[in-house]
Amino acid sequence: MTENTNKKRAYAQKARPTTGKKPYYGKKFDPRRQDRRQATGDGVDVRIGQNFPLTIKRLGINGEGIGYFKRKIVFVPGALPDEVAVVKVTDVQPKYIAAKVLKIREKSPNRVAPRDEYADEVGGFELEHMTYPAQLAFKKDVVAQALEKFQPRGWTDYDLRDTIGMANPYEYRNKAQFPVRKIGDKLSVGMYKRSSHDLIDLPVVHTQDPATMKVLRTVRDLLDKLSVSIYNEDKNRGTVKTIVARASHTTGEVQLTFVTNTDGFPGDAALIEAINQALPEVTGIFQNFNPGRTSIVWGEETIKLWGKDYIEETIMGKTFQLSPRAFMQLNYTQMTVVYNEALAALDLTHADKLVDAYAGVGTIGLSLADKVGEVRGMEIIPEAVDDANINAEINHITNAKYEIGTAEELFPKWQAEGWIADALVVDPPRTGLDTALRREILRTKPEKFVYISCNASTLARDLVDLTQAYQVEYIQSIDMFPQTARWEGVVKLTRRD
Ligand code: SAH
Repeated sequence: MTENTNKKRAYAQKARPTTGKKPYYGKKFDPRRQDRRQATGDGVDVRIGQNFPLTIKRLGINGEGIGYFKRKIVFVPGALPDEVAVVKVTDVQPKYIAAKVLKIREKSPNRVAPRDEYADEVGGFELEHMTYPAQLAFKKDVVAQALEKFQPRGWTDYDLRDTIGMANPYEYRNKAQFPVRKIGDKLSVGMYKRSSHDLIDLPVVHTQDPATMKVLRTVRDLLDKLSVSIYNEDKNRGTVKTIVARASHTTGEVQLTFVTNTDGFPGDAALIEAINQALPEVTGIFQNFNPGRTSIVWGEETIKLWGKDYIEETIMGKTFQLSPRAFMQLNYTQMTVVYNEALAALDLTHADKLVDAYAGVGTIGLSLADKVGEVRGMEIIPEAVDDANINAEINHITNAKYEIGTAEELFPKWQAEGWIADALVVDPPRTGLDTALRREILRTKPEKFVYISCNASTLARDLVDLTQAYQVEYIQSIDMFPQTARWEGVVKLTRRD
């Protein structure tokens, strides 16, 4: 799954509470508990700016506190279940109220001081004010909430396994992709305040691999010292827009990319030399050209300025080469947990034909290639498919082949050609599986089937169809993004017949 910052969008999607009288969180999950009286908030008189005390009942799927004001749902970021908070209304919509905390009157025992002081101002720290065990419990509850909403066959009996967390739920993000701006005299490298273009300079980010932060901060100082041209958004002028540092967990090498507004890069020679001096861990430096005002970080064109074309990462004994644009999960440790969970759930044999659907650079299929007869994978990004095939070659894997195309198109095509899958792993983006793919899975019913999901809602929706032919053995939640509300899970499915 790719990186995503939290945005307002979330509220609109969740505006329909299907439950909510009691907090799920921290209590045993009881699917029969429903209270539809609270589902509508019509006719509730409330204004923006109004204050009132509110009891928080539970956390919504994006980690925000949920309470009810005269039966109308209120979303309060930063508030925790069982807390009583004085809140101030920031938005009133037909189906929900958004509010912010003015004061916590009664604190949850699960509340802690966030390590990152700006945690409530930028995206990516939605749960940093909560103890880690409570975060893990929340993530298990996220699946429960999604299942209750979509109610796939047998859902009340699913084995929802306790979330697998990290021993150290910090310092896990192997990539830092931070904008650079000059604000007055100060050169800032950091993150934008939520729904704004105010950049906060961030010398310390506890969720980042320290190697990425060291490189970013040192490069910030060098840009400053050498007076390198920095992008000015108002004037749409200047050069350096964003710095991207990606660290290899395996080798400690760091790949550095400057996203620039201009084609040329004045002063790059001196800058590269200074980086070489100060940061021996940086083994490759790149420029990505992305002109103009745009919210998209990366442009089409990437050139190497200096050093190695790739950094390498070893995953389950296989080596993967990563060019600056190649996708890699952000959390190496938990990615390995996910892949091992997929492996355990599949129970593969050397006769199996395995499909690695939504393959990225082939990390899943290639990690499992030794255990099966043949691997085929598909992915829509041509460069990723090239990388996957190169990665197969580097590892002397001769029984794996990756193709460009959608899962919904290639999976049926291969089956129609007589290449029948025994085992299927799907790892779709947040949108989940396409209807055509679900239909084909139901028609051909691969014997072994694992669904890796990064969105409990689309997973639950997809299970409504899939459970016509399959049974859910268990859902294993895995915390890929500690301190955030993002969920990830591995689902083992077995055929009903
Ligand atoms: N399995 C990989 C990548 C998962 S991310 C890993 O673990 O690293 C999901 C991937 O699905 C992305 O690389 C995205 O480009 C790809 N994708 C999106 N829609 C797709 C579709 N319809 N068919 C195949 N791949 C798709």
